Amino acid sequence: MARRQKMVIVGAGPVGSLAALYAAQRGYQVEVYELRPDLRDPRIVPLNFTKSINLALSERGINAIRHAGLPDLLRDILGACVPMRGRMIHGKKPSGALYEVSQDFDIHGRCNLAMDRGALNARLLDALEDLPNVELFFNHKLTGADFRKRKAWIEDRDRLSPSGRPREMEIDFDIMLGADGAHSAVRYHMMKFSRMDYQQEYIDTLWCEFRIDAGKPHADGSETWKISPNHLHIWPGKDFMFIAIPSEDGSFTCTLFLPASGFATLEADPSQVPSFFDVNFPGVRDHISDESLIEAFNTNPHLPLISLKCKPYHFGSSGVIIGDAAHAMVPFYGQGMNTGMEDVRILFSILDKHQAQLAETNSPLAAPGVDQDDDDDDYDKVSTADAVADQAHAQALAEYSATRWVDAYTINDLAFQNYVEMRTSQSATYKLRKALEEFMSLRFPCFGWQTKYSLVVFSNRPYSECVRRTDRQGRILARAFAGLVTSPLLAAGVYLAYSYRRPMKELWHNAVAIWQMM
Ligand code: FAD
Repeated sequence: MARRQKMVIVGAGPVGSLAALYAAQRGYQVEVYELRPDLRDPRIVPLNFTKSINLALSERGINAIRHAGLPDLLRDILGACVPMRGRMIHGKKPSGALYEVSQDFDIHGRCNLAMDRGALNARLLDALEDLPNVELFFNHKLTGADFRKRKAWIEDRDRLSPSGRPREMEIDFDIMLGADGAHSAVRYHMMKFSRMDYQQEYIDTLWCEFRIDAGKPHADGSETWKISPNHLHIWPGKDFMFIAIPSEDGSFTCTLFLPASGFATLEADPSQVPSFFDVNFPGVRDHISDESLIEAFNTNPHLPLISLKCKPYHFGSSGVIIGDAAHAMVPFYGQGMNTGMEDVRILFSILDKHQAQLAETNSPLAAPGVDQDDDDDDYDKVSTADAVADQAHAQALAEYSATRWVDAYTINDLAFQNYVEMRTSQSATYKLRKALEEFMSLRFPCFGWQTKYSLVVFSNRPYSECVRRTDRQGRILARAFAGLVTSPLLAAGVYLAYSYRRPMKELWHNAVAIWQMM
């Protein structure tokens, strides 16, 4: 009997949980270690959040869940989402009247889905618990890892030593997946083994959560929303903005993004918070009371935003990092979790490919843990199976690292750029380009034109390809525009030359005569 390959996954956030599902489906013996208590307990708040927040789940995340091979899970998740068809831009006219303008995300009507992060995580963990080859260890913190010896050290916070410190245990693994977020311990320890390039940046913007409560319920008890439930609401500002994302229960999770200096000014005198909102985010005070605004500002943390890039993502055949651990990004494209889930789909499809190739050329035992033989004592076959699985891991991780970073770097950069776009989404150039691209997309679908946003959010094309395509579209539009401007001038020049051809001819002769006399 072939030994099951053991995959240890560190971090049971959305990315780690999904990776565990993929690994379990492929027959690995899966162990998931999570620093915090059971994340399904509603009292447990995700790291760096005051409560579970709403996220935009889009095609890449959905597609990755779809490929987990559990149709009921996907149905259940989609059933708990609120579709958002566009942005709702809020502002104030010079007359003082409030206005809101809806901008659809996509000319073909495709939507982003708002989903409670905790509810999504809980559904993934529930699905994992049903699988016989998965063990979940909550309250277990990875403290060290040796990727050559394939050993790791875990602090078991449920078991205290006589001195009151958590007990440490040693575990072994064939392959470790680090899905332990932006401040990844797996990444930190892997850096001691691999020559990993690493860069991180904190942007000069902090964020803080607020909440718009549900409106008065309908007579039948169903929810009402105070503002449109099918939009991502944006109150743009020059250096800052306020956004609101709908929840199933009729409330909105809101986020204030503001430079650190702006937070410092308000922290010095929080009573100014309502008037700050009044000036900069007109209309918000109609939905959140002054007391709630001040309380949320005082109580909820003012958190930084980190963006990080690194490569390679792996060491040999024994370790790889995915999700925020590999490429935490600023949240302005709503792609952080979606990219992490896409990592899982891509990583396992590369693993499948190498396992299949090696299985063809070696032994059918290459599959990680599938019983191929009842011969318990056939040691040679088992070790061949391990060696083949190891070779598949080595090839797959190398390919994953070599190809994935380009797309991860691209979405990281796009997320930065989108902050500017979100705050200036009323600019004329932005609207003109969007309108032209949407016109082309609708009227000439054969050319495959799409806005950058649609390609990034509603397709599964590699992010780098999305940028290449839209850059090319931009160049074509620029040339067409230049042609439109210059062709009337050219036409006017030709017309004038023809109309005044006689005097022009005379002028030319005179000029030549003067030249010859000189
Ligand atoms: P995490 O969610 O950080 O999970 C990592 C897990 O590892 C945690 O549970 C942690 O407890 C555990 N862990 C950490 N260290 C250890 C250790 N040493 N041992 C064991 N376990 C450990 N993304 C979107 O796609 N759409 C959005 O709309 C969106 N909006 C966002 C809004 C804001 C304000 C922010 C800050 C982020 C947003 N994101 C969004 C990004 C998204 O939250 C992250 O990309 C996503 O949570 C990453 O998932 P992950 O599983 O990789 O990491």
